[in-house]
Amino acid sequence: MEMVNPVTDMADCFNIEQLIRENIRMLEPYASARDEFSGSASVFLDANESPYNRYAMSGGLEDGKTGPLLNRYPDPGQRALKKDVARLKGLDESFVFLGNGSDEGIDLLFRVLCEPGRDNVVTVDPTYGMYRVCARINNVEQRSVLLRPDFSLDPSRVLEAVDENTRMVFLCSPNNPTANAMDESAVDLLLKALNCFLVIDEAYIDFSSSPGFLSRLKEEPKLIILQTLSKAWGLAGIRLGMVFAHPVLNTYLRAVKYPYNLNSLSMDVARQALKQRHSHRKRVEQILAGRARLSDRLKAFSFVEMVYPSDANFLLVKVSDPIRLYRDLMAAGIIVRDRSTVPLCDGCIRISVGTEEEHETLLQEMKRLEKTYSAGSGL
Ligand SMILES: *Cc1c(COP(=O)(O)O)cnc(C)c1O
Repeated sequence: MEMVNPVTDMADCFNIEQLIRENIRMLEPYASARDEFSGSASVFLDANESPYNRYAMSGGLEDGKTGPLLNRYPDPGQRALKKDVARLKGLDESFVFLGNGSDEGIDLLFRVLCEPGRDNVVTVDPTYGMYRVCARINNVEQRSVLLRPDFSLDPSRVLEAVDENTRMVFLCSPNNPTANAMDESAVDLLLKALNCFLVIDEAYIDFSSSPGFLSRLKEEPKLIILQTLSKAWGLAGIRLGMVFAHPVLNTYLRAVKYPYNLNSLSMDVARQALKQRHSHRKRVEQILAGRARLSDRLKAFSFVEMVYPSDANFLLVKVSDPIRLYRDLMAAGIIVRDRSTVPLCDGCIRISVGTEEEHETLLQEMKRLEKTYSAGSGL
C-alpha cells in the first residue's frame, strides 16, 4: 500500500471554509446602524448619536482641517482608509482587513480558525511573544519549533510539528528578536507542503532588503500577511494593524471584529500619513543609515561579541554579561531589551535604532561602563 502523507496530499485541495470554526461559519454578524445604511444622506437619525460635534479638532491636523466628526460613529467598513491601504499595497480591497494593531488581527485569527481545546498552531522560535500569549488566552495548543542556530528557517522541523488539527503556522519576517528575514525558498517549501494557513508577520518589512510576500497573496490562499503602521510609519500610538488575506477568510474576520474596531481619529491620522510616502521613505532611509552606524560602533566594544545582521529597525547584540549591561544602562536611564533568556539568544540584548542623539548617549554610557568592567571583574 502506498504511504499517505496527510499534510502534502491535501495541499492540492486547500479549502478555507473547512478551516473556519463551525460556530463562526454559522455566525450571523451584528449589523450596526451604519452597516445597514450605505448611501449618502444629509439627516442622520438612525444611530442615537448626538447631533452636536462639540470636540471638533483644531490644530494638530494639517492644512487647517477640522478633523473627523467625533459625534458620529466611524465607518465600520473603514472604506476610505481601506481604499488608501489597498492602493498603497497594490491589492484589491477585498484582501485588506484593518485592525486595532496587528495584535487584534492575531487574536481574531485565533478566534476564527482555532477550536479551543482541539486545534493547534505552530510558532517558529525565538519570535514575537503575542502568538503564544494569544494561543494561551484562546486555550489553543501552541507547538514551538526552533530556528536553526544561525536563525534560518528549517521547513522540515515545521512540517514535523504540524498535524491535521494545525490551523496556522506563524512566521515573522524580518523576525523579532533575531532581526533576519526568512529565506524565500524555505518559505516556498512550507507554502507548498502545508494544509493550514501560513501567517507571515511583516511588521518590519519596510526596513528589509527582502521584498516580502505580499505579491504572492493572490495565488496563495494559505498565505496571511500581517503589517502595521506601528514601526516604519511611526504611528504606534494610533494602533493600526493590517491583515492581508484571501477574501473568504477576510469575510470571517470582519464578521467577528467589533463593529467599530477602528476609531475616527486613528483612521484620519492614518489617511493623512499614508499620503506622505516621500517622507516615509526618507525616514526609513534615515533609520537604515542609523542602523549601519550604530552597528559599526557597537562592534568596537571589548564586551560586544557579536552584532547580528539586521533587516529591521533594531539590532540583536551579543555581549559578555547581558544582565549586568542591561541593569547598568537602566541605571543611567537607558532602556534596552534583555533577550538573553530567549532560546538561541544567549547573551543577547536588543537595541532599537533611535536618533543620532540617543545613540550618542548610549555609546557614551557604554564607553564609561567598558572602563569600569575592565578595571573591575576582568570582563
Ligand atoms: C512591534 C510588532 C508588531 C506590532 O504590533 P501592533 O499591534 O501593530 O503595534 C507586530 N509584530 C511584531 C513581530 C512586532 O515586533
